[in-house]
Amino acid sequence: MCGIVGAIADRDVVPVLIEGLKRLEYRGYDSAGIAIVGDRDVRRVRRTGRVAEMEAAAASEGFVAGLGIGHTRWATHGGVTENNAHPHISHGELALVHNGIIENHEEQRERLRALGYAFESQTDTEVIAHLIHHYLQDGTDLLAALQRAVKELDGAYALAVISKRDPERMVCARMGCPLLVGLGEGENFVASDVSAILQATRRVIFLEEGDTAEVTRGGVRVFDAEGAQVRREEHVSDVSLASLELGPYSHFMQKEIHEQPRAVGDTIEAIIDANAFTPDLFGAGARAVLGDVEGVQILACGTSFYAGSVARYWIEAISGLPCSVEIASEYRYRTAVANPKHLVVTISQSGETLDTMEALKYAKSLGHDKTLSICNVPESAIPRASRLVFYTRAGAEIGVASTKAFTTQLVGLFALAATLAKLRGKLDAEQEAGYIEDLRHLPGSIQHALNLEPQIAGWAERFAPKQHALFLGRGVHYPIALEGALKLKEISYIHAEAYPAGELKHGPLALVDADMPVVVIAPRDGLLEKVKSNMQEVRARGGVLFVFTDQDSNFGPSEGVHVIRTPRHVGVLSPIVHTIPVQLLAYHAALARGTDVDKPRN
Ligand code: GLU
Repeated sequence: MCGIVGAIADRDVVPVLIEGLKRLEYRGYDSAGIAIVGDRDVRRVRRTGRVAEMEAAAASEGFVAGLGIGHTRWATHGGVTENNAHPHISHGELALVHNGIIENHEEQRERLRALGYAFESQTDTEVIAHLIHHYLQDGTDLLAALQRAVKELDGAYALAVISKRDPERMVCARMGCPLLVGLGEGENFVASDVSAILQATRRVIFLEEGDTAEVTRGGVRVFDAEGAQVRREEHVSDVSLASLELGPYSHFMQKEIHEQPRAVGDTIEAIIDANAFTPDLFGAGARAVLGDVEGVQILACGTSFYAGSVARYWIEAISGLPCSVEIASEYRYRTAVANPKHLVVTISQSGETLDTMEALKYAKSLGHDKTLSICNVPESAIPRASRLVFYTRAGAEIGVASTKAFTTQLVGLFALAATLAKLRGKLDAEQEAGYIEDLRHLPGSIQHALNLEPQIAGWAERFAPKQHALFLGRGVHYPIALEGALKLKEISYIHAEAYPAGELKHGPLALVDADMPVVVIAPRDGLLEKVKSNMQEVRARGGVLFVFTDQDSNFGPSEGVHVIRTPRHVGVLSPIVHTIPVQLLAYHAALARGTDVDKPRN
């Protein structure tokens, strides 16, 4: 999903659109464009590649207007070409930008073709422009035409539309993709993410699923899915502009890796202040919801799924409750068996992850009423749809590769494991005090791990020429191996696989040779001796080992075995600390290969 920004004002909005698109660039995109309504005509400029190129083209064509929309596209339907870039225009009359995917686009295309519409692009989006145009022909106004059109769309969308017949407003709609309205003085905005409009205003209204809205210079009217006008609460965004700047760092990913002591420190604050694991950490009414839980079902995608996978080890070991973790996009499409006594935990940095949201809705439809979300963005859709919430306090995450969101999610999930244990009488006062003490030391332990950066950068040089890498871990560190492999492939494009170290002998060992570096997460826990035997298996095949361990583990480098030690073993929170080295390894390997760290391809 990519970026949308729109503006209507008495001043020239082109700089607002360009600045907004630049703020959205971090989301990764392949083309960009803007459309404006000028003197009763619609003009647009589109370019594949960077916003800066599109900006130069807009400047040379003398774009100036009081109404416009902009888009950064992440192609889903049709290749990366100028013709497929947004905005899409129908009959020179209206322009539209779209985030998301229209599932019934083929059917709509056939229908519109039969009505005489010709298509210029391969996108699913163009059908929406023509559909709205079609409804405008019988005199329907722009808002009503949009409302009629969206009723016929299956799939996910955030839309913003302008028309030359209607230079006094812009209309928009949301289903499954985030969209908000920014409120200014005599000017108003729409955006898919608040960072796009912070330059102009902090006052925002988050549109809800199925909403449509009409935005003029003087005001905003919002309508629900039934078309009834509704009032949506106004929020003041606390995202700071500073958090959107790089400061002394070269990349947002590096900045965000280094922000982890602070992000984790902020996230544990409420626990440290309470000096206890209390249901209150998860919102009002949490005691009643969590009190009689008989199991936990975690639903998440990507890095959040790995956070959930760590949590499974904690929840079962600490609270004694059964816990399963599932990829949200799998869960939502299968026939699942619900147990309403199980707590459904969704994890999403943005709180808007579509598959996770749909999985939550599906769980609720199956009778799951006990729902909790772990989320970094207040008031986003998933926490709003959940009974309980734990907000991580990571701050804005700009780099595409998630870092501080992951470690702060782990803090929230650990607090959940401990709280469930306490409610079940499985956590005595001494253990509770011990865990709180561990949390108190966590930001410092993360800082110590960050201090290993120069050594890890040295390793990364050796990784850079490789085509493949293997990551191994056991127990609660196995998901950290998965996260390390995901980070490496995501930003350095080195193919990486992670295995539970005990699985090595059941197949993957065949891959090991001198060209396949093997990263091992091997802290001094109960499984260390087992991991050591797995490392012998690698060495015996000529594999070179890169081992992250801690000072307490008592083993050092030898031929073909490189070792970096984090400081002392931090006990149950060790997976959080061991995340830092694998993040740094991926970051420096990407730097050494010269890839675009903050905006990975595809
Ligand atoms: N599905 C649309 C396309 O491929 C929009 C993709 C996006 O969200 O940027 O053009």
